[in-house]
Amino acid sequence: MTPNETIPVVLIVDDVPTNIKLLARALRHDYRVKVASCGEDALQGARLEPRPDLILLDVMMPEMDGYEVCRRLKSDPVTEFIPVMFVTARDTEEDEELGFNLGCVDYITKPFSVPIVKARVRTHQPFSVPIVKARVRTHLRLKRQADALERLSHIDQLTGLANRRQLATTFEMEFKRAAREGLSLSVLIVDIDHFKDYNDHYGHGAGDVCLRQVASSLMNSLSRPGDLVTRYGGEEFVVILPATDSADAYALGERLRENIVQLNIPHAYSSAAQVVSVSIGGTTAEALCDIDSPENLLESADRMLYRAKEMGRNRTVLTTTEAIS
Ligand code: GH3
Ligand code: MG
Ligand code: MG
Repeated sequence: MTPNETIPVVLIVDDVPTNIKLLARALRHDYRVKVASCGEDALQGARLEPRPDLILLDVMMPEMDGYEVCRRLKSDPVTEFIPVMFVTARDTEEDEELGFNLGCVDYITKPFSVPIVKARVRTHQPFSVPIVKARVRTHLRLKRQADALERLSHIDQLTGLANRRQLATTFEMEFKRAAREGLSLSVLIVDIDHFKDYNDHYGHGAGDVCLRQVASSLMNSLSRPGDLVTRYGGEEFVVILPATDSADAYALGERLRENIVQLNIPHAYSSAAQVVSVSIGGTTAEALCDIDSPENLLESADRMLYRAKEMGRNRTVLTTTEAIS
C-alpha cells in the first residue's frame, strides 16, 4: 500500500462474540475493523462512513439471517457494490449456491468435521485464519481496483475534470434536489472561440495545453462546493450551479469568461479577441416546472451559446426557463 492509499475498512458481522473477536484479531493490524452482531446493525454499519470495503457475513443469526442481509445490501444503491464474503457453518452445496446467487464474492465454511471442530475449539479457531486473511486480502485488492476504475470512468483524461458521464449523474441529482426544494438551478455551456483555427495554426499539442489551462481556470474560478465543472466534449465545458439565480449565474459566467481572457494565451487567428476567449450560453430555472428536464435546460443553454457566437463571441448570454417555456 502506498502512503496516500487509505486503510481498507472491513465489517465483521456475527452474532457469536468469540467469532467476531477471532476475526477482528486476525484483521485489525492491517485494516480498519467495524463489527456488527445482528442483521440490522450490519445494514446500518454498511451505510455509515467509513463505508466498508468488504463485509464478512455470518449466515445463522437470530431475527435476520445473513442471506437476507446480503439481499438487502445488494438492493440498496449505497451498499450494492460492497463485496460480501460469507463466513458460515452452513456448508451444503445449496447454501453455497444461494450465497453466490445473492451476489457474494466468496463463501467460506466453518468446518463441521468433528475432529477439526474439536481441534479448532481447542485452539479457539473455528475456521482457518490464514485462509480467511488471504481471501480478505484478495477481495480488498479487487475492490481497490474496481474503485479506481470507477473513479477513472468519471474523469476526463486530458483535463482531469469530471466527464460527461459524471455530468449526467450530478445534473440529474441536482435537478431533482432543485425541484424538491424549490431552488433555482443554473447551467452554463462554455465553448472556446475559434478553437479549430487555434489547433490548425498552433498545433494539436498546443491545443491540448490550452484545453488544460482553460479547464483549470474554470475549476479555480468556482468556489462553492456544490458547483460542478465538466468537460462536455472537445472544447466545450458544462458548469452546473445549484441554488444559483440568473443574476448570479450571469455574473459567474462573466467571471469565468474574464478569467480565461486573463490567461493571456495568444490567439492571432481569432475574430473575437487577440487571446483565447470563450463564449458562454446559460439557462437558469428559477423554479422548475413539469416540462423541465436536464436535457431541455442544456438545449436552452446551447441555444444561448449559439446566440453568443452570433453576437460576436467572447460574451455570456443567459436566459431563464420562464423565457423559454
Ligand atoms: P466556434 O468559435 O464557433 O466555437 O469555432 P470553433 O473552431 O471553436 O468550433 P469547432 O466546433 O468548429 O471546432 C472545435 C475544434 O476543437 C475542432 C477540434 O480540432 C478541436 N478539439 C476538440 N477536441 C480537442 C482535443 O481534445 N484536443 C485538441 N487539441 N483539440 C480539440
Ligand atoms: Mg464547439
Ligand atoms: Mg468553439
